[in-house]
Amino acid sequence: MADPFPPGAFVASDPLDWWRGGCEWVRCSARLQELWADRLGSAQARRDKRDARLASLLARARTHSRFLARHWSSAGPGAPLHALTPVTRGELMAHFDDWVTDPEIRLDNVRRFVADPARIGEAFLGRYAVWTSSGTTGVPGIYVQDEDALAIYGALLGAQADFAPTTDPRSFMGSPVRLALVAATGGHFAGIVWWQRLCRMYPLLAAHARIFSILEPLDALCKALDEWNPTSIASYPTVLTQLAAEQRAGRLQLAPRTLLSGGEALCETERRAIEETFGCSVVEDYGASECMNIAHSCRAHRLHLNESWVVLEPVDERMQPVPPGEPSFTVLVTNLANHVQPIVRYDLGDSVTIDAEPCDCGDERPTLHVSGRADDVLEFDAHHGEFVRVLPLAIETVLEKDSGLSRFQLTQTARDELRLRIEPGDSHERRRAFDRAQKALTRFLAKQGVAKPVRLHLEDEAPQIDRTSGKLRRIRTKTGSSADRAT
Ligand SMILES: [Zn+2]
Repeated sequence: MADPFPPGAFVASDPLDWWRGGCEWVRCSARLQELWADRLGSAQARRDKRDARLASLLARARTHSRFLARHWSSAGPGAPLHALTPVTRGELMAHFDDWVTDPEIRLDNVRRFVADPARIGEAFLGRYAVWTSSGTTGVPGIYVQDEDALAIYGALLGAQADFAPTTDPRSFMGSPVRLALVAATGGHFAGIVWWQRLCRMYPLLAAHARIFSILEPLDALCKALDEWNPTSIASYPTVLTQLAAEQRAGRLQLAPRTLLSGGEALCETERRAIEETFGCSVVEDYGASECMNIAHSCRAHRLHLNESWVVLEPVDERMQPVPPGEPSFTVLVTNLANHVQPIVRYDLGDSVTIDAEPCDCGDERPTLHVSGRADDVLEFDAHHGEFVRVLPLAIETVLEKDSGLSRFQLTQTARDELRLRIEPGDSHERRRAFDRAQKALTRFLAKQGVAKPVRLHLEDEAPQIDRTSGKLRRIRTKTGSSADRAT
């Protein structure tokens, strides 16, 4: 398989990137020290600092975000957080130019920026990071992060390495480090942007890092991973689960020392299967494009909330607080780190349970678990009676990028049959969208090694939200159970 990101792609084309890297290093180190000081201080001191950060974010939003000032006008000036009306991605994106607090940022120029894959990881307007997300609500999102937010995310990741159940650090001494990110490529997605930014700013890191695309056929992906033989792998739970299944089946021979899981919820059975297969710990990172690093796992495998920089409010259908121990209908997130595009009481759509019991690891911060969506791995017929498995995120990426669909639902009803639901609307536009989807899927599945033609039907119904999780499961099988989980 051709390396999707050859080493040359990582070399910083702009010497200013090195300068930015130096500045970010200084800012990140200061934030890391602050985090350690937070941990050593009392719970009251931590709450006071968080409240001060929240007050500063709300003041900035009220004075510089025309949309949020209007959105909160009925609550009156100085209203506390819980009195502010929650927001959805649809509302924020519909008022993008009024939402951001820097008037130089406009939806049209950000859209031009993210339309160019060559600019992934580049500093927008010389100072911001930009990433996009389709997510599960169906409305594409564009997120702009300021320099301080980026330093804070870096510090939270750095602090995570201290507290998470990583392998004995001595095992890394004297041996080369090879990092692998296995992700959906080709777009300005958060993980890829983060990775590419670091590689642009720190060329030494770039020499030890590779990105592997989940859009490649699974056997080619496994071959490329085997060749690179990574010491650390970062990916989504669905992908790590599938890689573990490949390893168990003898189609992969990896010996990683750390695994990082993010982007979706990792369930306990999956975590144990991945850890047993690869013989190393999985560090789980719970975050979203709207708020990186909401929580990360500890030695006791529980997710601790990064409460210094995130306010998380589990709520019911009427947006009323849900007590610890009970699963929420959705969760409102407030990101205290980023001031250029304030995320305040944002309806994330995840069902979250705050644990009622403290964690055995000794960390006093609240722990939580997430029941996110779980898209299914699809199976198709290949040559010689074999079959190929296709990762749900790969299909989602193809439908979004090549067909321009955002809100859709694809159900596999047989090995050679798929049914597509898209938003109701003009019949000609629906038909054109369906034709684009059919072309893109046919091309993609052929590349994956699918031997028989797969029939695609357009259904009249609109995509259906999952009643339990409140999320749109975009890729699913008729039975709802994926093949890999049975492996
Ligand atoms: Zn813990």
